[in-house]
Amino acid sequence: MKIEIATVMENKLIASNLWKMKMTAPDVAEQYKGAGQFIQILVQSSWESPLRRPMSIAAVDGDEIAIIYKVFGRMTQILTELKAGTALDILGPLGNTFRWDDNEFTAVLVGGGVGLAPVLNMYGECTAAGQEAVLVLGARTSVEHFIDHKPQNNVFLATDDGTTGIAGTVIPAIVKSLENTSKPEILACGPEPMLKAVQEFAAAHQIPAQISVESYMGCGVGICQGCVVKRVNGNVAEHSYHEKYSLVCIDGPVYQSKDVIIG
Ligand SMILES: Cc1cc2nc3c(=O)[nH]c(=O)nc-3n(C[C@H](O)[C@H](O)[C@H](O)COP(=O)(O)OP(=O)(O)OC[C@H]3O[C@@H](n4cnc5c(N)ncnc54)[C@H](O)[C@@H]3O)c2cc1C
Repeated sequence: MKIEIATVMENKLIASNLWKMKMTAPDVAEQYKGAGQFIQILVQSSWESPLRRPMSIAAVDGDEIAIIYKVFGRMTQILTELKAGTALDILGPLGNTFRWDDNEFTAVLVGGGVGLAPVLNMYGECTAAGQEAVLVLGARTSVEHFIDHKPQNNVFLATDDGTTGIAGTVIPAIVKSLENTSKPEILACGPEPMLKAVQEFAAAHQIPAQISVESYMGCGVGICQGCVVKRVNGNVAEHSYHEKYSLVCIDGPVYQSKDVIIG
């Protein structure tokens, strides 16, 4: 993990309220281990806003890393205003990665909302490694998508309002994507309700699943204890704090779905 002054190379709107930023960050890129890892960005260093903002790494290409972000509040709004050449204080890479032990499965990569970045990153890694992969992306409406619905290429889009792809949440799109899929394993990242639905779907259909949990986070390095997720720890009668909760920033953000309780 390094603190590095990165240089913004490109920062552009790619869909409604969705931005992609590329920056050179040789030290962070050198230590990067894989999709799932994130950086903490100090957007503004002031008493008003001392906290870094976590962003998943969407791609790494040589010295360059990319993030894909949605505007939620003040800091993400400020991010949209940064021009090429701006210096940006980042900390990373942080957290663990999605993983696969052998190639005998099909990765069903499911992303929604701000969870797009690690899922697209994983898709790139699967494609580069010749790993079978299916992409399922959910959004509220068509203008929030920036790639095309192409089931023939194993790319399935879902929209809540049915304006593109399959109408509804990601679940009907996952069902569709599984029609021609052997030995699926779901790898998902997205908002809490989506992760919970994916978790329940995976458990009901006995499909192994990994989920990346983007809980609200302060420090990103295990000090503030703000990002906890509850562990499935049914057999322990008296829990210690760390047996009951896991720190997303250092134990995660990627978990076996069966190991954590969402929501
Ligand atoms: C490990 C990790 C990876 C992330 N990766 C990405 C990414 O790749 N792209 C991306 O767009 N965002 C990502 N996020 C979320 C991102 O960090 C927040 O959207 C950002 O910090 C918001 O900052 P802000 O100052 O704009 O908004 P704030 O003013 O801090 O928040 C505005 C409102 O947004 C909501 N909110 C903000 N962050 C979260 C959160 N983490 N969970 C639930 N609600 C939240 C809250 O309701 C809050 O009131 C990630 C979060 C984590 C923990």
